[in-house]
Amino acid sequence: MFTISNGIILKGQDLVPVRENIVVDDGKIIEIAKDAKEGKIIDVDGAVVCPSFVNGHIHIGDSIIMDEGYGLSLAEMVKPPNGVKHVALSNAEDEDIINAMRQSMIEMIDSGTTHFIDYREGGIKGVRLLKEAAQGLPIKPVILGRDDSFYGDDPDLGKVKKAIRELLKVADGIAPSGFGEITPEVADLIAEECNKQGKISSIHVAESESNQIESLNNNNTTEIAKGVRSGFDQLVHLTNPKANDLEMVAESNQNVVVCPRANATLSVGVPPLHKMLELGIKPLLGSDNVMLNSPNMFRELEFTNKIMAVYYKSCIDPKELVKMATTNVCGFEINNVVEKSMILEDHPAEFIVSKSFSNNPYLNICNRAETKNILYTINKKLNV
Ligand SMILES: [Zn+2]
Repeated sequence: MFTISNGIILKGQDLVPVRENIVVDDGKIIEIAKDAKEGKIIDVDGAVVCPSFVNGHIHIGDSIIMDEGYGLSLAEMVKPPNGVKHVALSNAEDEDIINAMRQSMIEMIDSGTTHFIDYREGGIKGVRLLKEAAQGLPIKPVILGRDDSFYGDDPDLGKVKKAIRELLKVADGIAPSGFGEITPEVADLIAEECNKQGKISSIHVAESESNQIESLNNNNTTEIAKGVRSGFDQLVHLTNPKANDLEMVAESNQNVVVCPRANATLSVGVPPLHKMLELGIKPLLGSDNVMLNSPNMFRELEFTNKIMAVYYKSCIDPKELVKMATTNVCGFEINNVVEKSMILEDHPAEFIVSKSFSNNPYLNICNRAETKNILYTINKKLNV
């Protein structure tokens, strides 16, 4: 048992700043109060106590090819099956993939991340490799798998269904790449089977303008509209919405993930975060492909904070931004699978204590703090 004393706690789902002490016993927050003092007393001298980060979208498998293919187009880099990453993954040794993924997880842990939602390539075997790489580490990978049977113009739906069911025995959900690679029938099957089993279905939508145009030309409907209609739990990117795409998403209450650094590296645009917030969408932030960017959420937060101001000529509320990397996920049904907690009594203790530089706790996190400023990471899996 210990007490983090004298910190500024970002409490609850809305990250309300309170100067109170926080008592942790056996991986659980048992009390938050001004005068609480039990067990070992750790005086943090005004440091910010922030929920640990959840990285809402990542492809950790391509940790083996960091910075390769820089400057190529989205399709040349990551479109299955011939993108740079897929060729590299299919030629790599299992052991090398495992070691590279483990190193990325260690970087995430060091930079305050305790949960991440991964799009894992390589079918059931790919899922198993990530589980093996994560063994013994204090981080929770939420693994969304995929299978080669999903792809093509005329897939065998019986085979697809079987592959989904087999994958869901080991994975937390399913995530094909995008609507450019699968038929609407396959998309519906994935969403339906995941829904039946209480698992997560997720898909990339509207990452590039050309994805959207291709979708409109082929089916007279946008990728975002397809994602909403198929009922995917989680839509990733939405960087290039059309007409009333975002209004539709706001109404559907689907979980949204934006990846501003990845969009920048692939030159596909800047996600319309201001409009999303105006419409009541509460996105998550993701660092996307490790080949493109480090999985460090401090970097994602600072970049997002600045690019929004540059591109839309209007600053984003830093509190809303920190929520995208921490507690927004707590408001979504997918949190049944992700299991991320907020800082509240009777919740698991999953938070970081970061050195304070100013009187604004949110800007402290997204504008000042770096990995080296984390004084403590408290995680139920660390069992401290
Ligand atoms: Zn992605």
